[in-house]
Amino acid sequence: MRIFSPSSTILWKRCPQEYAYYKSGIVPRALGPINYGALFGSAMSVAMNCIHGKGNKADPLLCADSFVTTSCAEFDSLEIKVDSEKIDSILKLLPATIQRYNEAWPDLFARRGWKVKESEWTIPDSGNSRVDLLLVDEHDTPIILDAKWKKEVKKAEYEQSAIDSYQHDWKMKHYCFFTGHALNKHPILDYYIMLGIASPKFKLNIIPYSISVQELREWEISAKQAWHDMDDSLRPITHTENCRDQYGLCPYYDLHFTYNGDYINAGSLQYVKIDRKEVK
Ligand code: SF4
Repeated sequence: MRIFSPSSTILWKRCPQEYAYYKSGIVPRALGPINYGALFGSAMSVAMNCIHGKGNKADPLLCADSFVTTSCAEFDSLEIKVDSEKIDSILKLLPATIQRYNEAWPDLFARRGWKVKESEWTIPDSGNSRVDLLLVDEHDTPIILDAKWKKEVKKAEYEQSAIDSYQHDWKMKHYCFFTGHALNKHPILDYYIMLGIASPKFKLNIIPYSISVQELREWEISAKQAWHDMDDSLRPITHTENCRDQYGLCPYYDLHFTYNGDYINAGSLQYVKIDRKEVK
């Protein structure tokens, strides 16, 4: 059976029609694909990979800066508006955040007896899924850790809500399932989120999560059913009722309902088409 990545599966489960638009490379021009918080997070992931990647001697700050600059150039080339003030604030925040991370992580891992085994580890036969950090404890037990970076968290309740949002997380269950298969041949039921907050005050915490055997089994059944349907070219593309949620309209709302999905003749004012590499 073809295995799809967690992000593709989550999008498909949200709405198969939205997944089909996304897969074809159509991007809403006004909203654009720019999420500045996520851009900062991705820049920090690039820096972390320089710090933890085997044989990687590149300067983390240079790599993170260059990632942000290259991303902006790509947005520009697609005529997607870039807010230069927001980009400047990301570039200003990166040096101190990378430095503070470098000061904090050795102790954070050492006090748990953890050692980094792989950075950006591609889990074999898992739909090309990558774990931010694969570590081992003193018994050589694999530890799955995903890093989440927040550019700014002003209130304690927002931090708690970020922590809560990774409980029962679909993607982390995908990592547990396939890492267990690849390394242990039995299920891994624990995962960790390293939550980094850049401002107003730097904070770095590792938060443990656990799932049950039953939960992982239920995930497996749901995932395999979704992958079977996603891979079935004869299955008609279906719609869901996620057209509106607490964040507003689905990004393809106009394309779908005003232009009947006709990007070429009507939607191109609002949407841009990019060459998307094959979606896994
Ligand atoms: S507008 Fe609704 S049906 Fe159309 S792609 Fe978005 S979520 Fe799916």
